[in-house]
Amino acid sequence: MKIICVGRNYSEHAKELNNEIPSEPVLFFKPETALLTGNKPFPCPSFSNDIHYEGELVYRICKSGKNVSKNEAPSFIDAITIGIDFTARDLQTHLKQKGLPWERAKSFDNSAVIGDFIDINAKDDYNFCLKKNESTVQQSNSKEMIFDIFSVIENVSKFVTLHKGDLIFTGTPAGVGKINVDDIYEGYIEDQRLMYCKIE
Ligand code: ZN
Repeated sequence: MKIICVGRNYSEHAKELNNEIPSEPVLFFKPETALLTGNKPFPCPSFSNDIHYEGELVYRICKSGKNVSKNEAPSFIDAITIGIDFTARDLQTHLKQKGLPWERAKSFDNSAVIGDFIDINAKDDYNFCLKKNESTVQQSNSKEMIFDIFSVIENVSKFVTLHKGDLIFTGTPAGVGKINVDDIYEGYIEDQRLMYCKIE
């Protein structure tokens, strides 16, 4: 399986990092070794002093496809959860300044946390939030995305074949920040807690 991620997909977050609003989805990938499931703790890596949390809606692909149209896209997802795209912001800033790829900052082990999946709804309308130590630090709705999941599927599948079990991280709203050891992150869709992650 592969983990497809969208960057800068909420205008308020693009602004908080002084990035332009993109005219097509900004894509990057994480390897399978990045996945952290089952509410396991996140081991804070030693190579960064500025790991950020990015709470994101994560959709699960349920069948293979290539060149999927936006109209066909709804049949390619069957479940959704909330996850965290952990990002080594110090490394990413350095790489961005040099015009280099972001992998070292984005694709490290355990950097893709996912919660429990729930069935998708027909309207693609999800309120979600990320709590840090019981305070809400990020909240938004799927409708606030610059590129909705169906546009992302259409765009990605022009370049990369989708397979059952692939995951799409759809970008983070405003409110990202630095993690600290012993923080507890909890992800909600509507009032359902789907994800729990302690920093170690
Ligand atoms: Zn992200």
